[in-house]
Amino acid sequence: MKAILILVGTELLNGGMLDTNSIYMAEKLNSYGILIRYKMVVKDDIEEIKTAVNLAKKSGDLVIISGGLGPTIDDLTKQAIARYLDKKLIIDEEELIEIKNKFKQKNIKFLEDNKKEVEKVEGAVSFENKVGMASGMYISGIACFPGVPRELYDLFPRFLKWYSEKKKLEIDKVYIRNLLTYGIPESYLNNKLKRFFTNTNIDYEFLIKDYGIIIRLQSMESNKNLVEKIIKKIYNELGTNIFSSNNMKLEEVVLEMLRERKLTLSVAESCTGGMLSSKIVGVPGASKFYKEGLITYSNSSKEKRLGVNKKTLESYGAVSFEVAKEMVKGLSTDVGISITGVAGPDGGTKEKPVGLVYIGLKVKENVKVIKKVFKGSREEVRKKTVLCSLFYLKELLSEGSN
Ligand code: ATP
Ligand code: MG
Repeated sequence: MKAILILVGTELLNGGMLDTNSIYMAEKLNSYGILIRYKMVVKDDIEEIKTAVNLAKKSGDLVIISGGLGPTIDDLTKQAIARYLDKKLIIDEEELIEIKNKFKQKNIKFLEDNKKEVEKVEGAVSFENKVGMASGMYISGIACFPGVPRELYDLFPRFLKWYSEKKKLEIDKVYIRNLLTYGIPESYLNNKLKRFFTNTNIDYEFLIKDYGIIIRLQSMESNKNLVEKIIKKIYNELGTNIFSSNNMKLEEVVLEMLRERKLTLSVAESCTGGMLSSKIVGVPGASKFYKEGLITYSNSSKEKRLGVNKKTLESYGAVSFEVAKEMVKGLSTDVGISITGVAGPDGGTKEKPVGLVYIGLKVKENVKVIKKVFKGSREEVRKKTVLCSLFYLKELLSEGSN
């Protein structure tokens, strides 16, 4: 079964607001085995909405509209549907009483304009809005919902349940597997994996995120075994470059490993200035394992806080293998990360170019230093460094457990 989405709102077209409703709806629809064929974004204009509905009806079984159901003059969705179906807009007396009561409970004066929120196309089924005012509506393969995300989240699951029962949908859920990878560029991934991506019943995608590249396989539940067979082949090919298959980010994977092994973590950052620490504390429950994050930006701080030898700093410079090593050793913790690098845009030399980073890693007695040269802006170098440090810590932690 195919659905077409129409997202109504001038603000969605002029950059004023990002459409997140379609992302939400895609997930819900997929769980009912309904795929989105395409989506359209249109402005708050009756004719534009009507044209979109007309187009959508030609190519999908179900047309879903979000936005434009409110009381203001730019809320025109129901009028557009009425015009498209050549039907009248009516007000259900019972629904009118209900909405008036809602206003009374909230101590807000009911205005004539608010009647619009319970208007519906003659013959349509209404869906009560339990968190807001404007109700949802379904008629002749067209469903519409408020644009306010929390109201959509309230109405949409109830609608889908009702719709699937009405249509007696045999649910073959959409089956999605995401493998999160680090350390292999997209074109290399493609090269390594394309020979496995031959079955046309499966969609294959590479999604580039700032926390790695997702290899996404999507099919229907009935093809689950087939998908899993390919996943196994991908694992054999990529090994530990896949850091999660359940949408866990690297920092979550690392903290999970610390939890399992009851180890504490501390970090000392120079050029990333707290970025790594911020990622770690972003994981719920981090306080159980995370002891401290030091921002040892200056040489004197590296000496004072971590006990880095003055001579090491003088001989090798702050951005060096030796200093990264002493920094991580200076952390009183089971597991540690130290970062020192040239984030740029200035400060690079021939020997130590912008993007040069040393990452010190420690798991108990096992200490390792990694050297990398990252490309990009100051911000990008810092982000890449954080990600890289987490990935190699994960690798070192796995070494210990093998
Ligand atoms: P209301 O009763 O509040 O007027 P409505 O159905 O008329 O509801 P809109 O006016 O279209 O909804 O949008 C209400 C709010 O929801 C706005 O802040 C809008 O930017 C936001 N919104 C609308 N569509 C989307 C969307 N596709 N994704 C995310 N937010 C959206
Ligand atoms: Mg509106």
